[in-house]
Amino acid sequence: MLCVTPELAPWAKSGGLGDVSAALPVALRASGVDARLLVPAYPGLRAACKNERPLADDLHFDGDFAPARLLSAELPGTAPLFIIDCPPCYERPGGVYQDGQGRDWPDNHLRFGLLSRVAALLGSADTPLDWMPDVVHCHDWPAGLAPAYLNFARAPRSASLMTIHNAAFQGIFPPATLSALGLPPQAFSSEGVEYYGNLSFLKAGIHYADRISTVSPTYAREIQTPELGCGMDGLLRHRSPHLSGILNGIDTTVWDPATDPLLAQRYDAAHLTRKRANKFALQARFGFEVYEEIPLLGVVSRVVQQKGLDLLAQIVPRLAAHPVQLVVLGAGEPELERVWRALAEKYRRQVAVTIGYDEALAHVVEAAADIFVMPSRFEPCGLNQLYSMRYGTPPVVRATGGLADTVTDCNAHTLADGTATGFVFHEPTGAALHGAIDRALAARNDSAAWRALQLNGMRRDFSWQAPARRYAELYYALIAERTAPGGSSPAD
Ligand code: ADP
Repeated sequence: MLCVTPELAPWAKSGGLGDVSAALPVALRASGVDARLLVPAYPGLRAACKNERPLADDLHFDGDFAPARLLSAELPGTAPLFIIDCPPCYERPGGVYQDGQGRDWPDNHLRFGLLSRVAALLGSADTPLDWMPDVVHCHDWPAGLAPAYLNFARAPRSASLMTIHNAAFQGIFPPATLSALGLPPQAFSSEGVEYYGNLSFLKAGIHYADRISTVSPTYAREIQTPELGCGMDGLLRHRSPHLSGILNGIDTTVWDPATDPLLAQRYDAAHLTRKRANKFALQARFGFEVYEEIPLLGVVSRVVQQKGLDLLAQIVPRLAAHPVQLVVLGAGEPELERVWRALAEKYRRQVAVTIGYDEALAHVVEAAADIFVMPSRFEPCGLNQLYSMRYGTPPVVRATGGLADTVTDCNAHTLADGTATGFVFHEPTGAALHGAIDRALAARNDSAAWRALQLNGMRRDFSWQAPARRYAELYYALIAERTAPGGSSPAD
């Protein structure tokens, strides 16, 4: 299996996809799947690579692609890696998708078109390698053209799986990019890469892939509705027999409060009282009053409408009227960042806001907070609520996507049967969020019940083992389909 991805944590990451790309192939290998990765050779990632070996020196493709090289490489803790070396595309400072000012790279169609194009080459009869994947597993729109290129590639060719981590990111470009991407004119149709008069990488992936998956069962249903399908809902309904939802896991070695080197004090379920040393350290770090009784709320998130941080901002004045502290870590939309900076300025003794990306502080907030807040408008899976449960920090979440699938609301019944792990609200409003936070604050007054809630979350298995098994089953189903009589056999 070839995992095709634009992100790979910690070297190239803008969100959860980076974490998934690093951890899933490793879990698949542990379950017996020969999983390998294909990623662009971004400078930061390249610098960490060991044992590079050239595999193909002069890859030329139709369209406006610069020549590229393919190398094999190793990175600690990941699956074997193929990297695409193409300096005009990847050799620049800045983020995976954007420059330092938050502007999309103007040549993203070529940067990720090349990723998709090389993936299809490796899955076709023209591969320069002596290894061919049974399945090309494409992650999000940057890999979305791979199934399209595969469709036009020389057989035998790999089957394809398109995984949607966020349907809101669709890789939409003007129609003229079709020839720049070396796609044939007939691909530009509603039965192809065309999407409302433009070209969409994600649409292409959904249309051409043999199977489609997304990262939670609830989100798999939601993206088939006009509300959350972001315009892809019709096509997704059409393809629903081939669409499934598989929850993400988390890297339980990186995210483990018992061994986490970034914490002031490590702890586990048997030594939960040690957790509070992390709270005291964070309170001190942000100049808050340092004591246990005052509830500390934590947020680690992209600061964008999707994550509902505007809803939380709305209710800060009301929250701050009570003895509550709030620590927010995140970066995103400049306007919303400004709102949060102003709140931190106004409520200096109770609200601390760190604008930026800080992996170490993310771990600290997960461990130090009493309650984690994640009021997303939509959330394909979400990782932070999983981290927070593992760190004994019950989350307050909205009932959407993966949040609905992973957090069990705390009430008398779920406390009694040991399933309660957090607090769930429904309406995307400040009032509903406030109601759930109030319930969490009240629940914290019953220390035995609170401890039970923490332990329920800490004991849940969020490892990649079960999800990797589900993916492996999907790959095997695809392979079986290909080899069945009447199936499109690789020898086509
Ligand atoms: P998304 O991918 O939509 O941003 P997820 O919850 O799936 O949301 O994944 C977010 C990932 O990014 C988590 O690993 C989280 O810890 C991390 N993260 C988000 N914002 C920050 C930040 N400002 N600093 C450090 N880590 C962050």
